[in-house]
Amino acid sequence: MTDKFSGRCSCGEISYGSTAKPKFSLFCQCRQCQRITGTGHSAQFAIEAKNTTIKGNVKSYGLTADSGNDVIAAFCGTCGNPMYKTTSAMPGMLVFHAATLDNPALFEPQMLVNASSAQPWDSIDPTVKRAE
Ligand SMILES: [Zn+2]
Ligand SMILES: [Zn+2]
Repeated sequence: MTDKFSGRCSCGEISYGSTAKPKFSLFCQCRQCQRITGTGHSAQFAIEAKNTTIKGNVKSYGLTADSGNDVIAAFCGTCGNPMYKTTSAMPGMLVFHAATLDNPALFEPQMLVNASSAQPWDSIDPTVKRAE
């Protein structure tokens, strides 16, 4: 991905911009990501909060990841669009949902995680590296 990018929610209430490249990007097939996205996996990239500006009325709720980590899931309080997550496993990082990007084609998945929770109808490009 480029080192400058921006994104927003469906209604435009929340927008964000970053001035640094993501640290990593992934597909995740855990049950939590399936529920949040309403489909078989999430597409996410992690950026440092200090390099990111977020505008708008962000709402959030806490949950426990399959890994046992504490996760905060942030979404738009107006349209409900999932935006990003934070996790106790990676303080200072924001893990954004890739389709919120103004240019989602910038997203380059580096790995697939939690493939053991995959649904039989959710297939992932076999060239994406598997990591557990
Ligand atoms: Zn919105
Ligand atoms: Zn997940």
